[in-house]
Amino acid sequence: MSSKPKKTRQSEAPGRPTRDEAEDAVRVLLRWAGDDPQREGLLDTPARVVRSYEEFFAGYAVDPRELLARTFSEVDGYDEMIVLKDIRFESYCEHHMVPIIGRAHVAYLPGHRVVGISKLARLVDAFAKRLQIQEKMTVQIADTLNEVLQPEGVGVILEAAHQCMSTRGVHKAGVTMVTSRMLGTFRTDPSTRREFLSIVGNPGVVAVANT
Ligand SMILES: [Zn+2]
Repeated sequence: MSSKPKKTRQSEAPGRPTRDEAEDAVRVLLRWAGDDPQREGLLDTPARVVRSYEEFFAGYAVDPRELLARTFSEVDGYDEMIVLKDIRFESYCEHHMVPIIGRAHVAYLPGHRVVGISKLARLVDAFAKRLQIQEKMTVQIADTLNEVLQPEGVGVILEAAHQCMSTRGVHKAGVTMVTSRMLGTFRTDPSTRREFLSIVGNPGVVAVANT
Protein backbone atom coordinates (compact mmCIF):
# COMPACT_ATOMS: atom_id res chain seq x y z
CA MET A 1 0.00 0.00 0.00
CA SER A 2 2.08 2.94 1.18
CA SER A 3 5.84 3.08 1.15
CA LYS A 4 7.81 0.71 3.28
CA PRO A 5 8.30 1.55 6.93
CA LYS A 6 11.76 1.20 8.33
CA LYS A 7 12.59 -2.29 9.43
CA THR A 8 14.17 -3.54 12.56
CA ARG A 9 16.98 -5.89 11.65
CA GLN A 10 16.65 -9.36 13.08
CA SER A 11 19.79 -8.96 15.11
CA GLU A 12 18.22 -5.98 16.89
CA ALA A 13 15.27 -7.94 18.23
CA PRO A 14 16.28 -10.10 21.21
CA GLY A 15 14.67 -13.51 21.30
CA ARG A 16 13.53 -13.35 17.70
CA PRO A 17 13.95 -16.67 15.89
CA THR A 18 16.38 -16.93 13.03
CA ARG A 19 15.14 -17.04 9.45
CA ASP A 20 16.03 -20.76 9.32
CA GLU A 21 13.99 -21.46 12.42
CA ALA A 22 11.02 -19.58 10.94
CA GLU A 23 11.28 -21.55 7.69
CA ASP A 24 11.40 -24.81 9.66
CA ALA A 25 8.21 -23.78 11.43
CA VAL A 26 6.50 -23.32 8.07
CA ARG A 27 7.61 -26.84 7.07
CA VAL A 28 5.94 -28.16 10.21
CA LEU A 29 2.70 -26.39 9.29
CA LEU A 30 2.88 -27.76 5.74
CA ARG A 31 3.14 -31.24 7.21
CA TRP A 32 0.30 -30.41 9.61
CA ALA A 33 -1.83 -29.45 6.60
CA GLY A 34 -1.13 -32.92 5.22
CA ASP A 35 1.35 -32.10 2.49
CA ASP A 36 5.00 -32.90 1.87
CA PRO A 37 7.39 -29.96 2.24
CA GLN A 38 9.92 -31.84 0.11
CA ARG A 39 7.78 -32.00 -3.02
CA GLU A 40 8.97 -29.70 -5.76
CA GLY A 41 6.15 -27.16 -5.66
CA LEU A 42 6.68 -26.54 -1.95
CA LEU A 43 10.46 -26.40 -1.77
CA ASP A 44 10.66 -22.59 -1.87
CA THR A 45 7.43 -22.01 0.01
CA PRO A 46 8.91 -21.66 3.51
CA ALA A 47 11.28 -18.92 2.33
CA ARG A 48 8.44 -17.14 0.56
CA VAL A 49 6.15 -17.35 3.56
CA VAL A 50 8.82 -15.97 5.87
CA ARG A 51 9.47 -13.08 3.48
CA SER A 52 5.73 -12.43 3.29
CA TYR A 53 5.59 -12.24 7.06
CA GLU A 54 8.10 -9.40 6.96
CA GLU A 55 5.63 -7.50 4.80
CA PHE A 56 2.44 -8.56 6.62
CA PHE A 57 3.84 -7.62 10.01
CA ALA A 58 5.98 -4.61 9.11
CA GLY A 59 4.04 -2.55 11.64
CA TYR A 60 6.00 -3.98 14.58
CA ALA A 61 9.06 -2.06 13.39
CA VAL A 62 7.20 1.26 13.28
CA ASP A 63 6.67 3.49 16.30
CA PRO A 64 3.31 5.14 15.53
CA ARG A 65 3.80 7.99 18.01
CA GLU A 66 7.18 8.82 16.54
CA LEU A 67 5.67 8.67 13.06
CA LEU A 68 3.31 11.51 13.96
CA ALA A 69 5.53 13.40 16.38
CA ARG A 70 8.29 13.89 13.84
CA THR A 71 6.01 15.48 11.33
CA PHE A 72 3.29 17.62 12.80
CA SER A 73 3.37 21.35 12.23
CA GLU A 74 1.95 24.09 14.37
CA VAL A 75 -0.76 26.09 12.64
CA ASP A 76 -3.27 28.63 13.73
CA GLY A 77 -6.37 29.51 11.83
CA TYR A 78 -7.55 26.28 10.22
CA ASP A 79 -10.33 25.09 12.45
CA GLU A 80 -12.40 22.80 10.27
CA MET A 81 -12.51 19.05 10.28
CA ILE A 82 -9.79 17.13 8.45
CA VAL A 83 -10.95 13.76 7.14
CA LEU A 84 -9.06 11.03 5.32
CA LYS A 85 -11.58 8.46 4.21
CA ASP A 86 -11.46 5.07 2.54
CA ILE A 87 -7.93 4.21 3.65
CA ARG A 88 -7.65 0.59 2.59
CA PHE A 89 -5.88 -1.57 5.12
CA GLU A 90 -4.82 -5.17 5.40
CA SER A 91 -4.43 -6.66 8.82
CA TYR A 92 -4.34 -10.11 10.40
CA CYS A 93 -6.65 -11.46 13.03
CA GLU A 94 -4.74 -12.36 16.17
CA HIS A 95 -6.93 -15.38 16.83
CA HIS A 96 -6.55 -17.17 13.50
CA MET A 97 -3.77 -15.28 11.67
CA VAL A 98 -5.89 -14.76 8.58
CA PRO A 99 -6.54 -11.45 6.81
CA ILE A 100 -8.82 -8.67 7.92
CA ILE A 101 -9.34 -6.44 4.89
CA GLY A 102 -11.07 -3.13 5.21
CA ARG A 103 -11.21 0.62 5.08
CA ALA A 104 -10.45 3.18 7.73
CA HIS A 105 -11.87 6.67 7.99
CA VAL A 106 -9.79 8.96 10.16
CA ALA A 107 -10.78 12.49 11.13
CA TYR A 108 -9.77 15.17 13.55
CA LEU A 109 -10.63 18.72 14.42
CA PRO A 110 -7.24 20.41 14.81
CA GLY A 111 -6.14 22.37 17.82
CA HIS A 112 -2.79 23.89 16.97
CA ARG A 113 -1.20 20.94 15.25
CA VAL A 114 -1.81 19.34 11.88
CA VAL A 115 -0.08 16.45 10.23
CA GLY A 116 0.37 15.57 6.55
CA ILE A 117 -2.49 13.39 5.39
CA SER A 118 -0.17 10.64 4.21
CA LYS A 119 0.86 10.29 7.85
CA LEU A 120 -2.72 9.38 8.74
CA ALA A 121 -2.54 6.53 6.23
CA ARG A 122 0.82 5.45 7.63
CA LEU A 123 -0.62 5.54 11.12
CA VAL A 124 -3.35 3.12 10.03
CA ASP A 125 -0.73 0.85 8.44
CA ALA A 126 1.51 0.92 11.50
CA PHE A 127 -1.28 -0.66 13.54
CA ALA A 128 -2.80 -2.76 10.75
CA LYS A 129 0.40 -4.59 9.90
CA ARG A 130 0.36 -6.50 13.14
CA LEU A 131 -1.75 -9.26 14.63
CA GLN A 132 -4.90 -7.45 15.57
CA ILE A 133 -8.48 -7.40 16.61
CA GLN A 134 -10.48 -4.66 14.94
CA GLU A 135 -11.72 -3.09 18.17
CA LYS A 136 -8.20 -2.69 19.54
CA MET A 137 -6.87 -1.29 16.27
CA THR A 138 -9.66 1.33 16.20
CA VAL A 139 -8.77 2.49 19.71
CA GLN A 140 -5.04 2.52 19.00
CA ILE A 141 -5.39 4.73 15.92
CA ALA A 142 -7.71 7.21 17.64
CA ASP A 143 -5.79 7.40 20.91
CA THR A 144 -2.39 7.86 19.25
CA LEU A 145 -3.73 10.67 17.08
CA ASN A 146 -5.33 12.24 20.12
CA GLU A 147 -2.22 12.04 22.28
CA VAL A 148 0.27 13.34 19.75
CA LEU A 149 -1.74 16.05 17.98
CA GLN A 150 -3.87 17.07 20.96
CA PRO A 151 -6.74 18.10 18.70
CA GLU A 152 -10.22 19.27 19.67
CA GLY A 153 -11.55 15.88 18.70
CA VAL A 154 -10.86 12.63 16.85
CA GLY A 155 -13.12 10.24 14.98
CA VAL A 156 -12.05 6.85 13.67
CA ILE A 157 -14.28 4.32 11.90
CA LEU A 158 -13.11 0.96 10.59
CA GLU A 159 -15.15 -1.23 8.26
CA ALA A 160 -13.67 -4.62 7.55
CA ALA A 161 -14.28 -8.16 6.41
CA HIS A 162 -12.74 -10.91 8.49
CA GLN A 163 -11.58 -13.99 6.63
CA CYS A 164 -11.80 -15.98 9.82
CA MET A 165 -15.55 -15.51 9.47
CA SER A 166 -15.82 -16.09 5.73
CA THR A 167 -13.43 -19.01 5.19
CA ARG A 168 -13.84 -20.94 8.43
CA GLY A 169 -16.08 -21.12 11.49
CA VAL A 170 -19.53 -19.79 10.61
CA HIS A 171 -18.57 -19.29 6.92
CA LYS A 172 -20.45 -16.05 6.46
CA ALA A 173 -19.13 -14.08 3.49
CA GLY A 174 -20.03 -10.48 2.74
CA VAL A 175 -20.27 -9.51 6.40
CA THR A 176 -18.71 -6.21 7.38
CA MET A 177 -17.74 -5.33 10.91
CA VAL A 178 -17.92 -1.65 11.79
CA THR A 179 -16.11 -0.20 14.78
CA SER A 180 -15.63 3.38 15.85
CA ARG A 181 -14.02 5.55 18.44
CA MET A 182 -14.98 9.16 18.98
CA LEU A 183 -13.01 11.47 21.25
CA GLY A 184 -13.37 15.11 22.28
CA THR A 185 -15.89 17.05 20.22
CA PHE A 186 -16.63 13.99 18.08
CA ARG A 187 -17.97 12.44 21.25
CA THR A 188 -19.63 15.43 22.89
CA ASP A 189 -20.98 17.37 19.91
CA PRO A 190 -23.63 15.53 17.87
CA SER A 191 -23.27 17.94 14.93
CA THR A 192 -19.52 17.24 14.64
CA ARG A 193 -20.21 13.52 14.70
CA ARG A 194 -22.99 13.89 12.14
CA GLU A 195 -20.70 15.88 9.82
CA PHE A 196 -18.04 13.16 10.04
CA LEU A 197 -20.54 10.38 9.44
CA SER A 198 -22.06 12.12 6.45
CA ILE A 199 -18.61 12.77 4.91
CA VAL A 200 -17.68 9.11 5.16
CA GLY A 201 -21.05 7.94 3.87
CA ASN A 202 -22.64 6.78 7.12
CA PRO A 203 -21.20 3.29 7.43
CA GLY A 204 -23.85 2.13 9.86
CA VAL A 205 -22.54 3.72 13.03
CA VAL A 206 -25.74 4.52 14.87
CA ALA A 207 -24.84 4.06 18.47
CA VAL A 208 -21.24 5.04 18.91
CA ALA A 209 -19.44 2.51 21.04
CA ASN A 210 -16.65 3.90 23.13
CA THR A 211 -14.51 2.05 25.56
ZN1 LIG B 1 -10.11 -14.58 13.66
